[in-house]
Amino acid sequence: MEDQVEEIKRKTDIVGVVGSYVVLKKMGRHHKGLCPFHSEKTPSFMVNEEMGLYKCFGCGQGGDVIKFLMEIEGIEFREALERLAERAGVKLINRRKDDSDERAKMLEVMDLAARYYHWLLMEGNAGAKAREYLKSRKINEKIMETFNLGFAMQSWDSLVNYLIKKKGYKEDLLEKVGLISRSAKGGIFDKFRGRVMFPLQDAGGKVVGFTGRILPELAKDDEPKYMNSPETILYHKSRMLYGFFQAKKAIREKKRAVLVEGQMDCISSYAAGISETVAVGGTALTEDQVEMIARLADKIYLSMDADEAGNVAIKRSVDLAEKRGMSIKVVQLEGGKDPDEIARKSTDKWKELVEKSVDVFEYVMNGALKKYDVGKVEGIKKITEEVVPFLAKIENEIVREVWAKRLAEKLGVATKGVLGEIEKKIIGKFENSKVSENKEKDVEENRMVKLARRLIGLLIMRQEAVEVVAPWFGGMIVSGAEGKLIAWLLENRENLPIEVLVENIPEELREVVGEAYMSDDSEEIPGQKEVEEAAIQLLREMIRDRKKELMMEMNTAKQEKNEEKVDEIFSKLDELNKKESRVLAFLG
Ligand SMILES: [Zn+2]
Repeated sequence: MEDQVEEIKRKTDIVGVVGSYVVLKKMGRHHKGLCPFHSEKTPSFMVNEEMGLYKCFGCGQGGDVIKFLMEIEGIEFREALERLAERAGVKLINRRKDDSDERAKMLEVMDLAARYYHWLLMEGNAGAKAREYLKSRKINEKIMETFNLGFAMQSWDSLVNYLIKKKGYKEDLLEKVGLISRSAKGGIFDKFRGRVMFPLQDAGGKVVGFTGRILPELAKDDEPKYMNSPETILYHKSRMLYGFFQAKKAIREKKRAVLVEGQMDCISSYAAGISETVAVGGTALTEDQVEMIARLADKIYLSMDADEAGNVAIKRSVDLAEKRGMSIKVVQLEGGKDPDEIARKSTDKWKELVEKSVDVFEYVMNGALKKYDVGKVEGIKKITEEVVPFLAKIENEIVREVWAKRLAEKLGVATKGVLGEIEKKIIGKFENSKVSENKEKDVEENRMVKLARRLIGLLIMRQEAVEVVAPWFGGMIVSGAEGKLIAWLLENRENLPIEVLVENIPEELREVVGEAYMSDDSEEIPGQKEVEEAAIQLLREMIRDRKKELMMEMNTAKQEKNEEKVDEIFSKLDELNKKESRVLAFLG
């Protein structure tokens, strides 16, 4: 498998793959374009052919061609690999045959079930009532096709007969994917009966589960209106966004996803022309779902019920979205109880509501202002208590201040006061974590990483310089992936063409190589002197760092009155001082 991944990457032209999503221009050693993962006006997105890597210096996204496909298409590793294999003409061999065999079998039977249900809906006599029902809800045949809708007969064994008797599948496979249920006596029967079927598709379009809505005329009191597949190895509720497969292209193009609750909301919104709609399907938005959207867009439009549960959902969404640097807007529902009803009554109205959606902070603020009396002190207190926790979630300080100012204006108080309250909330959040202490260390580490990366980039371009600088390091190495990579480069002095060199570099270090290499886009190959200077800068930084550490150790040793230790540290410091003067001499 490992070798096949390598083979596929080698045979894939990354510029071609990325180029089908992004307009790329050759600049120096790299290709450059506008980043598809964040919005920008000047290109900071780079692709390097010889290394097979991409990197955005604006938002930080980067990796190899498989990662690119995963991110841009919102698909899993396996799926991306399969597509690239096909493109490159490589036949994938499965190493973990049993596992993937079972998975493949499960997908196969789900696909067949979906086709069967779909056929019943579109062609069968039994599906006539379901077709009528859907048409009465303004879902035409084209939409039924797009979402692969189906119908499950009001029968205990129609699917069982089809899949087991006719197609020869095993009972336990059907049970494993949740298509059949078992009675107390051990008999099996169709799980979905008399229902309009909504196949749940993964990002690549494969059917992994179903939601079945009871046909109104068949509804009984003891049966739930909606029924879902159980969680299986194929289907995880928290990772499912209904309609994502159909919506992803529009989500990427419009840089936003409209989030609704149910399948019918999703389909009606799509049919009304908002094709970037996805449904969370009754669960609260999860991190995985936000991640799926974040790969393609930077805005989420929430259109949930405006009840208490909806407000909790909004709060949660803001948390998740802020963490991923995404913004949230709220579609304010009117003229119907849900997007389905509104869009069915008037597609224009629904479109208008989506376009008129308000920023989530404005939504929360307006909600609180409506609820409480701004003319009374108590009212102001209540409004503040409701809105401030939201504003405290805003990661960007300037944006936070803008909203604080707006709230202050509405309340007729000073902005300073509102900011103070927000500050309190934020401090409360971090009370127990030592943020500021870590900050200083972060800055130092960043500087070191930058110096290390620069050196890596230069060493790759002028490999002959390794001979000269390797002895200077004499066993001293930076921590982290950069350090490992430098150590590797210093040891492997073979002066190879870049693409060969990169293939030799251990897999886990390759991304670092790419970043280091691509952060420099000058046309010219660096001179020997440039490499030497970068090495010396890094060495000085490392020595300084190590000295600081030793000083601290020294203090502890002195407090503990550990004479032996003090002596030991002294000699280490002495050695470092000598080393530093040698390094400084090189700089000369
Ligand atoms: Zn970017």
